Amino acid sequence: MRSAIAALPPLREVIAQHGLAAKKSLGQNFLLDLNVTARIVREAGDLGGANVVEIGPGPGGLTRALLAAPAASITVIERDRRFLPALEELAAIGGGKLRVVEADALKTDILALVPAPRAVIANLPYNVATPLLIGWLRHIDEFRSLTLMFQKEVADRIVAAPRSHAYGRLSVIAQWRAEVDPLLTLPARAFTPPPKVDSTVVQLRPRQGREDVPFAVMEAVTAAAFGQRRKMLRASLRSLGDAEALLAEAQLSPTARAEEIDVAGFVRLARAVAARQG
Ligand code: SAM
Repeated sequence: MRSAIAALPPLREVIAQHGLAAKKSLGQNFLLDLNVTARIVREAGDLGGANVVEIGPGPGGLTRALLAAPAASITVIERDRRFLPALEELAAIGGGKLRVVEADALKTDILALVPAPRAVIANLPYNVATPLLIGWLRHIDEFRSLTLMFQKEVADRIVAAPRSHAYGRLSVIAQWRAEVDPLLTLPARAFTPPPKVDSTVVQLRPRQGREDVPFAVMEAVTAAAFGQRRKMLRASLRSLGDAEALLAEAQLSPTARAEEIDVAGFVRLARAVAARQG
């Protein structure tokens, strides 16, 4: 299959031939350098035997690199039907390994679409990257790994440590559910058309031995705490009930602010809230 992939026309030609001008509204910033897409797939680590899902394949640069990987299957989900003919050309040389699905990833149940072991890999459309990530984190144990390109500022928030400017809801929820590793950063000029900012690939894998509290409670606790991040927790958590009692139960200082609380502290807080909800 490698020789058939190598014989494909350059992505610029595919784009010109099919009239695939990038649409800003769909977050279309393409990776046309196949060395870069191959590197992303290499950095994703072991895809052996995995059922890989790629969100937003566009003209198929990352998809070509995936076809050369030892995945069991590749399912690509693309919302913009203009790309389907070019993707079907790839499927034709994929020998049944590549399936093209026209759908909105936000409305697609990946767990129903492909069996385990699952791995997601994507250069995500920036306007839906965070809601997609939150949806997958909810079911993180159903995935072997998520290898995702974000705007660098979003990636920084995902991996941020307490007491840093970038630390917030996304850091807590991501690091509670997953081990998070930044893999590589690409300059804006690596994309066509170039976006305004650099991008970073982050890998997330289910965190083992995690203490579970209901996802919705963790969302509510972090929303309250970081919604008023400059306030002390005894004030920002009032909407959750008796804030002082909750904080005492979680062994947290009532005068602390959200950004000083580590993930374990938020888990204790969520547990205290969940216990009251019965
Ligand atoms: N994977 C290609 C690459 O790396 O060159 C394209 C990446 S581009 C940043 C994002 C892709 O996601 C586009 O092809 C866009 O049409 C697609 N897309 C945008 N919103 C989507 C959605 N809700 N569901 C599925 N695909 C979407």
